[in-house]
Amino acid sequence: MNLVPMADILQDAHERTYAVGGFNINNMEFLQGIIRGAEELNSPLILQASEGAIRYIGMDYVIKMVEAAAKDTAIPIALHLDHGSSFESIMNCIRAGFSSVMIDASKKPFEENIALTKKVVETAHSVGVSVEAELGTLSGTEDDHTVEEKDAMYTDPDQALEFVEKTGIDALAVAIGTAHGVYKGKPELDFPRLKKIKELIEMPVVLHGASGISAEDLERAVDYGVNKVNVNTDFQQAFTSKVKELFAEKPELYDPRKYCGPGRDAITAKVKEKIKILGSNDKAW
Ligand SMILES: [Zn+2]
Repeated sequence: MNLVPMADILQDAHERTYAVGGFNINNMEFLQGIIRGAEELNSPLILQASEGAIRYIGMDYVIKMVEAAAKDTAIPIALHLDHGSSFESIMNCIRAGFSSVMIDASKKPFEENIALTKKVVETAHSVGVSVEAELGTLSGTEDDHTVEEKDAMYTDPDQALEFVEKTGIDALAVAIGTAHGVYKGKPELDFPRLKKIKELIEMPVVLHGASGISAEDLERAVDYGVNKVNVNTDFQQAFTSKVKELFAEKPELYDPRKYCGPGRDAITAKVKEKIKILGSNDKAW
C-alpha cells in the first residue's frame, strides 16, 4: 500500500499555511465518498479511524478497504489512528499497517502524558510512523467517551512548548474551544491562544471537533497555524440527512444501494466543501 507518513503531509501544510482534513471513516461508503472528494480536488488526505470504528468495521477490513481505495489514486494518503487510548492499541495499528497514530493521554496528569507519548514516539518513529498527541481537553462525545463542558481544559501555550520538546511528536492537537460531536451553543474559539501556541512550537497544529465550526472561523484557524482539521460529525450528518430525505420521499425503498449511494455522494460534496475551506486543494504532489 502506498500510504505516506502523516508527518510528510503536515510538514508541507505547515510550511505553506494550509490544513489537511483528518476525515473519519465509519464504513465503506465513507471511505469511498471521502477519497473521491479528495481526488476530485487533488488534495492530500489523512484518512482516520477511531478505535470504535475499527471495532465496528474490523481491523482486516479497514486495512484491505483502504488498500483497495488507495491503490488506484495518485494523491498522498496517510492512514491514521484517531484517539489511540493505549500503547497496546497503537502497536496493534502499527503492526496492521497504519502510517500514523494518535496517542491521547490528555486526561492523564501532564508528566504521565509526556511519558506515555514519548514512549509511543520512540517506537512509532523507529518504523517510520508519525505521531499526534493532545494537550488540553475538549468537551463533547468521541466514540463512547463523554467529557462535560465544565471539565474541558484549554491548552496552555508554555506547557505545549515543553510537551513537544520532551516528546518529539509530529503534530499537536490543541484545545481552544472546539468540542467533539454536536455543539450545544455557538462555539467561541480562543484565537489569541492558538496564535501564541503556534508561535512557540513552530510545528503542525491539529484542531479536533471541527464539525459545526463556521467556514470563517476555520479559515481563520488555518491562517493562525492549524494544519490538520478533524471532521467526522459533519459527514455523518450529511450521510444520514440524505438517507432520511430519501425515505421521507419514498418510504417503500428497500435496496441499500438506492440510499447508501446517494448518502456516499452527499459525503463527497461535504468533503469538497471542507477541502476548499482548509485550502488543501491542488496541494497533492
Ligand atoms: Zn478528536
